Amino acid sequence: MRIPIIAGNWKMHKTVDESIELTNAIKRSIYEIEDVETVLCPPFTSLSDVNEMIMDTNIKLGAQNCYWLNEGAYTGEIAPKMLKSVGCAYVIIGHSERRAMFGETNETVNKKIVAALKEGLKPIMCVGEKLKEREANKTFDVIKDHVEGGLKGIAGEDMKNIVIAYEPVWAIGTGKIATPKQAEEVHKFIRELILKMYDKSVAEALRIQYGGSVKPDNVEGIMKEADVDGALVGGASLKADSFADLIKKTNALGKG
Ligand code: PEP
Repeated sequence: MRIPIIAGNWKMHKTVDESIELTNAIKRSIYEIEDVETVLCPPFTSLSDVNEMIMDTNIKLGAQNCYWLNEGAYTGEIAPKMLKSVGCAYVIIGHSERRAMFGETNETVNKKIVAALKEGLKPIMCVGEKLKEREANKTFDVIKDHVEGGLKGIAGEDMKNIVIAYEPVWAIGTGKIATPKQAEEVHKFIRELILKMYDKSVAEALRIQYGGSVKPDNVEGIMKEADVDGALVGGASLKADSFADLIKKTNALGKG
């Protein structure tokens, strides 16, 4: 059985005070939830404060990016070791916004995954096709390229610490969610690919999140699919009500 995992990617939103307020409200709303793993990914500046607030809960802390080295003259970068020291359990790697705007490639994604794992962080590796690629029937080619490139050299035993987030770029922040069928066919494809790259136990244990305009009113349809094990949520994670609501709805499905 795979415990569903819902992660809130706050992106470049929330000051420290706003993060504290949002975390408090989320904490209050989901304190009874036991069968969904919840991860909050605030901006770097709020990690420490959010960590203090969730220490006594089941909620986990995640960062939105990291560098692939642990120290050095890399102005503006944040090391996996630093994320670990402020309480992070997870780190999002290869988000499409970073691929599109900050030069992230399969190679940098792979280096970051290796470095994060070495520090005991669990990477949430994002993969996903652009609209043009889907329209050109290249979705599976792109996903294969992202998965194989990002996981190059990663041992089967490390796969239990990796989550893959399938995020079709055309669905991120657009309000246009993939249909449950579209999501499931890519998730199934990813699981079959992992089976070929590793083995049955690795493929069956892998948690694959869907990301792209997930909201309380569409989460159930997506989460009901057999190979969907959670969601990576942007916009709807910025309000306690909507984030808590979709966690409760996921919990009620009893997949955990
Ligand atoms: C995301 O940023 O990973 C995301 C899925 O955003 P949204 O939920 O706003 O589409």
